[in-house]
Amino acid sequence: MSVLVTGGAGFIGSNFVRHLLDATNRSVITLDALTYAGSMRHLDDVLDHPRHDFVEGDVRDRSLIAELFEEVDSVVNFAAESHVDRSIDSAEPFVATNVQGTRTLLDAARDADIDRFVQISTDEVYGEISDGTFTETDPLDPRNPYAATKASADLLALSYHSTYDLPVLVTRSSNNFGPHQHSEKLIPKLIDRAARGESLPIYGDGSNVREWTYVQDNCRAIRMVLDEGTTGEIYNVGSGDERTNLDVARTVLDAVGAPETLIEFVEDRPGHDERYALNASKMAALGWEPAWSFEEGLEQTVEHTVGWN
Ligand code: NAD
Repeated sequence: MSVLVTGGAGFIGSNFVRHLLDATNRSVITLDALTYAGSMRHLDDVLDHPRHDFVEGDVRDRSLIAELFEEVDSVVNFAAESHVDRSIDSAEPFVATNVQGTRTLLDAARDADIDRFVQISTDEVYGEISDGTFTETDPLDPRNPYAATKASADLLALSYHSTYDLPVLVTRSSNNFGPHQHSEKLIPKLIDRAARGESLPIYGDGSNVREWTYVQDNCRAIRMVLDEGTTGEIYNVGSGDERTNLDVARTVLDAVGAPETLIEFVEDRPGHDERYALNASKMAALGWEPAWSFEEGLEQTVEHTVGWN
């Protein structure tokens, strides 16, 4: 069995490629356009793996996708513009890759013999929640352009299941952290700055709450969905470990051995959702539970991140 991993030179994708090669005997083709967010460095240790091929290309390139779909039986679509702040500056590349790119993959899959199409999505499609957790049947309420394009891609993918019986599955995970995450994202940014003794900018009063899932746990969840999930279904992936951004900053400072005086509150992000939290009981029913605590995952992340950028 062979899997196409799109966006596999990015953060979660590169961890997933490594996970597939380590934990299964599948062959893997990684497709990535190598935007600012993708890097061959993330794949350094697996580039020469006998079951792995890397192809530089765009998910919107229909003829390339058609060629690659002749070689694989499943696809996991991580390729995306993924940074909320950038989507607030300009939604255009987000619509291009997250919506058009997903649509291109879906149409190409209709013409090919694809057994499993896993669309990687995010908790942000549900919007914010003050109490309780989101389940997969909750209505979508994306509140920033990034989340809106991810919600659009989910709906398109699910519509291809109901309309064309395409074997689509969707995972929606909470915030991930771990090795190989781009330095523009919260945790690597905090680690980099703390290690250099620079101030740690925290939006607003730092009270926004996110649920943090270690990337290895998400990769395991995605593989379980790929292997055992029911087509047409959505699976929330969340560790249940909720933390305010201020709490995250303090834990990072502690892990790096830098003083709390580095924390600096800055003007809040527009439309900054207060809290995201997922009900992951469908994943639990598949036998998944997080294996990494936040502190354990952070230790690995600090070790990898300091000196990387
Ligand atoms: P990332 O930005 O690190 O990686 C995205 C990758 O996609 C990059 O390697 C980039 O080069 C590639 N890419 C971008 N446009 C492309 C195109 N047109 N064609 C081919 N490749 C292209 O993102 P990430 O954090 O690894 O996120 C991966 C997926 O997981 C995204 O779909 C994101 O929405 C989702 N997700 C991320 C998180 C998180 O916390 N990071 C949480 C939930 C869901």
